[in-house]
Amino acid sequence: MTYQPDRTCGRPTRSGTPCKIRISGSDVACGTHATEQDKAVAEAHRRGWNEGWKDGCESGASSSKSHIAHLEKRVKELEEQLDAARRVYEVDGCQVVQVGKYSYRWRGSDPLAVGDRVLLPENWLSKIKEGPGPTVGVVTKLGTTYRGSLADIVGRAPTTDGTD
Ligand SMILES: [Zn+2]
Repeated sequence: MTYQPDRTCGRPTRSGTPCKIRISGSDVACGTHATEQDKAVAEAHRRGWNEGWKDGCESGASSSKSHIAHLEKRVKELEEQLDAARRVYEVDGCQVVQVGKYSYRWRGSDPLAVGDRVLLPENWLSKIKEGPGPTVGVVTKLGTTYRGSLADIVGRAPTTDGTD
């Protein structure tokens, strides 16, 4: 779970900019933008928190642990549903893919598949770690749930003569 304090809703508004309404606790989006799935995720998370705490007091830590594991699984299921509901595979007519936890746009004519090696644009971190120029990454997932601006993949990475 990556619930951080002091978050904003971040859903796209009618004007296209991310919603800046602050959300707290288990909420996934603000009251205006939360879907039924968002509310279910928040509710399951909230319930896990409350019941885990209550069980911990009433019946010892071990039953509480299995209960929390069950609720965590349920939250994960709901988060997967949420991911599927929010995931888009194209932005502005271009394919979008995930490389690790970051999302990129692909302007090439031949679609990328999971496992394809690509050249990613240099960023401040890769510049420090690996020097200037693009870095090689591997497509881990198709589509994205990210709604901010996306960097473009530089190109397909050269193949490594089958020694890879
Ligand atoms: Zn909102």
